[in-house]
Amino acid sequence: MDRTLVMKFGGTSVGSADAINRAVTLIQEGAGKWENLVVVVSAMSGVTDNLIRCARTAAGGQQEGYLEIIEALRDRHVSVVNLLFQADQEQQELLQVIEHQLSNLTALCSSIHILGEVTPRAMDVISSLGERINARIIAALLRELGLLSQAVDATECIVTDARFQSAVPLMDKTREKVRSRLLPEFGENRIPVVTGFMAATEDGITTTLGRGGSDYTAAILGSCLDAAEVWTWTDVDGVMTADPRLVPDAKVIPMLSYAEVSELAYFGAKVLHPRTIRPIVERNIPLWVKNTFNPGIEGTCIVREADKQQDLVKAVTLIKDLSMVTVEGRGMMGVPGIAARTFGAVARQGASVLMISQASSEQSISFIIPAETSQEVIRSVESEMELELERRDVDRVWAMDGIVIVTVVGAGMRHIPGIAARVFKALAGEGINVVAIAQGSSDFSLSLVVSAADGAAAVGSIHNGLFN
Ligand code: ADP
Ligand code: ASP
Ligand code: MG
Repeated sequence: MDRTLVMKFGGTSVGSADAINRAVTLIQEGAGKWENLVVVVSAMSGVTDNLIRCARTAAGGQQEGYLEIIEALRDRHVSVVNLLFQADQEQQELLQVIEHQLSNLTALCSSIHILGEVTPRAMDVISSLGERINARIIAALLRELGLLSQAVDATECIVTDARFQSAVPLMDKTREKVRSRLLPEFGENRIPVVTGFMAATEDGITTTLGRGGSDYTAAILGSCLDAAEVWTWTDVDGVMTADPRLVPDAKVIPMLSYAEVSELAYFGAKVLHPRTIRPIVERNIPLWVKNTFNPGIEGTCIVREADKQQDLVKAVTLIKDLSMVTVEGRGMMGVPGIAARTFGAVARQGASVLMISQASSEQSISFIIPAETSQEVIRSVESEMELELERRDVDRVWAMDGIVIVTVVGAGMRHIPGIAARVFKALAGEGINVVAIAQGSSDFSLSLVVSAADGAAAVGSIHNGLFN
């Protein structure tokens, strides 16, 4: 028997009574084959979105609105529990768990309603509630099936900094805590069912790892437990050549390298959280992406060195809801440190820069950021450049909204000429205008900025040009 396996189930994979039954069957199979098994679960699909909407509605002053959302959350969870369990003690306890969590949520939202604002810290307590309920449902179901199992809140295992909504684990402390919390469970032959997405600071204050963070939770646990493998069970057949929602004929990629998948996730392939690879790279742990609804096929295997000869280009991705900010002026050429100061001003807003392109004449710098941050970023850059704007060295700082980044990813790209030509030919064929271009520093990717209206067509035509 192999040693430790970490299995993570995403939102759709545990989003209904039927899905939970499938997930539990897969856990049972795993328990028969692996010496130690850890399960990580997400909230039911859509629940995290609704929790966030609930908190925002409360902050916006609509009491009716947030109470309605809480009612709907109650109905959904209660009906899943009633479908999965007979009227027994496990069922009674789960109904109490749901009541308890939702009455906490109601109390929190009522304070938010009075204050008229929701802090990132409060948002983390609220948005992680779905994971807390689901871990308990799944552990209880495993017990009903005769396995030993225990729900574990990741706040007892994963220690992070205090960057709410996008916290970063402190790995040494986390390793210690994970081992002292979970190894005894293995000793007792129990399967821990750990909440994905959430963690806590050293002082025990709840944090979250960013949207889609349960993948990251699984990788962190895998690394800390020296797992042999980490598997993420999701709702598609693996990592694919494009998002199958955009490109129906996208194909599964059987094998990818850590570097390729990081680039893919960073540039928008939602199938894995962008930081998932970090904890497992060092320990060289293989990561598999598999389909809960089609478990017979292997899925995607992610390892250190994927076969470079095969499929030179691996995938096309899309990131939406972006703005391109441009700092321009004929006098910029002579001003030292202008790029450093620009990005310093961006960093002060906490905005992440996804892509940079500088005109060769040095008369402008453009960079891409999430649309929701563009107004603050412009103000911050303008105040940094106050003097230059006055002197007309910098003419203006402005944003182009409604753009997306389309990225072509693959380790083989640097070895073959002509990929860029094929990409541009495909876009030209559709009459799509390219606003800006950047080659990834890793040589693994080529990114293009196009207008949001062209995004889906750009992905489709590039995919067609490269893979068909
Ligand atoms: P989970 O809840 O299981 O974590 P997510 O919704 O977070 O699932 O991620 C899976 C989704 O990612 C798929 O349903 C698919 O629409 C989307 N996706 C985007 N890009 C890709 C890609 N390149 N390969 C596979 N899925 C992708
Ligand atoms: N439930 C969380 C989210 O929707 C985490 C996850 O699904 O990975 O973002
Ligand atoms: Mg996900």
